[in-house]
Amino acid sequence: MLKKAFIIALVLVLGFGLVGCKKEAPEESAAAEPQRRFATIGTGGLTGVYYPTGGAISRIVNKKYDEYGLKVTVESTGGSVFNINAVLSGDLEFGIAQSDRQYQAYEGLAEWESTGPQEKLRAVCALHPESITLIAADDAGIKTIEDLKGKRVNIGDPGSGNRGNAIDALQNAGLDWEKDIMAEQIKAVESAKLLQDGRIDAYFYTIGHPNGSITEATAGTRKVHFVPITNVDDLIAKYPFYAKSFIPIALYPNATNKEDAPTYGVKATLVTSSDIPEDIVYIITKEIFENLEEFKALHPAFSVLTKENMLEGNPAPYHDGAIRYFKEAGMMD
Ligand code: GLU
Repeated sequence: MLKKAFIIALVLVLGFGLVGCKKEAPEESAAAEPQRRFATIGTGGLTGVYYPTGGAISRIVNKKYDEYGLKVTVESTGGSVFNINAVLSGDLEFGIAQSDRQYQAYEGLAEWESTGPQEKLRAVCALHPESITLIAADDAGIKTIEDLKGKRVNIGDPGSGNRGNAIDALQNAGLDWEKDIMAEQIKAVESAKLLQDGRIDAYFYTIGHPNGSITEATAGTRKVHFVPITNVDDLIAKYPFYAKSFIPIALYPNATNKEDAPTYGVKATLVTSSDIPEDIVYIITKEIFENLEEFKALHPAFSVLTKENMLEGNPAPYHDGAIRYFKEAGMMD
């Protein structure tokens, strides 16, 4: 009896073992392949440039999924400030963020003044230039930034990078955003519709050009124009992360401007955290830089990118994985 029970038990064990083996078979053979991993990039609104930028990075890296086992996905978010905070908290692995916000977070300024320097923040590379873009309805009587006084203006949501830029631009023009304008703090991608529906007179958006959101704003029945932002020398002297720029009106044939609109700008950058493994950041850096021509073809705002200028405008320290690639490629000593 005992012997029989033992044999039954043995069969059961072996049987389960076999089932187990069968189940594990795919995993065992997968062991020879790279470990499967995921990384998500925080971007911006769907009609902005960050969202397709994240898409371009994921497309290039995911092509090598069989080699690296790394799957990159993209998340639409409120923008720079949200992305930096999500990267620091570990909710996202990568984020696209304005260079001025990268600087402020690392130094513990602006939105990070109460939390202090965000020392885990790491740069990967700089991307396309972004301009502080002020767009107004022609019927609202706004020719200069000073004319925003008393007007309903969307400055952007608190997760965005552009909200702070709008506040700086207003302050530079002698306007207090809390007292002198009727400020809305709605996501910038919603501004085009709000402007066309007559619910706002103007809005700020710090963004690369051309982009779908501004095209949408200029394509409606309400005529709109870019408001020049001038007299920015003092602002740039105070905040060296700003530089003069302009909006080429040829990109928006429906805007009523006759000339390019002067303004100032920053750069979009790719950021991560020092907690992210070196090899993941290395793979992403390498694939962007080694496929730069293909990457540039994915959005017109990337046309000015060069390997050299992508290493300019990154105030936080580079991630070790990015440094490994830059050294290997002879771009860094
Ligand atoms: N610069 C904007 C921000 O950080 C986002 C622009 C975009 O989505 O292209 O809020």
